[in-house]
Amino acid sequence: MFRVGIGFDFHRLKEGKKLVIGGIYIPDEKGFVAHSDGDIFFHALTDALLGAIGYGDIGELFPDTEDKWKNADSSIFLKEANRIVNTAGYEIVNIDGVIILEKPKIKPYREKIIENTANILKIQKNQIFIKGKTYEKLGELGKGLGAECRVVVLLKRKI
Ligand code: MG
Repeated sequence: MFRVGIGFDFHRLKEGKKLVIGGIYIPDEKGFVAHSDGDIFFHALTDALLGAIGYGDIGELFPDTEDKWKNADSSIFLKEANRIVNTAGYEIVNIDGVIILEKPKIKPYREKIIENTANILKIQKNQIFIKGKTYEKLGELGKGLGAECRVVVLLKRKI
């Protein structure tokens, strides 16, 4: 039996903040404004995993009102979502994500992000794919005021 999950995340970008996507530090003058490290890929992926089994969402499990999640490494959320999915009797078939960021380009970091995510989830690199897109300078996100991520995950029941 298969189950599909979708995840979305958005964070504002600001000068002097750290830009971390998929647990990989990306040097840029701007970074995420967030309670945790603001990792849009890990947040969207965490929500997709939890949503696929109807467990809840990242905000319920890790409230941004709690001090212990301040500046948290978002791999913690992802690891916990993966543990919940596995405990529920499911395993990941594949993950596909879109990172919408005006700059810098995601492609030079793609391999690192995929490798890091595969290590955290204990799956193969070829089960994960991500691509970067832009809003072609249109609107607020096109001006680089924020970045978003959309992720789809497919799970299957473990035999
Ligand atoms: Mg978030």
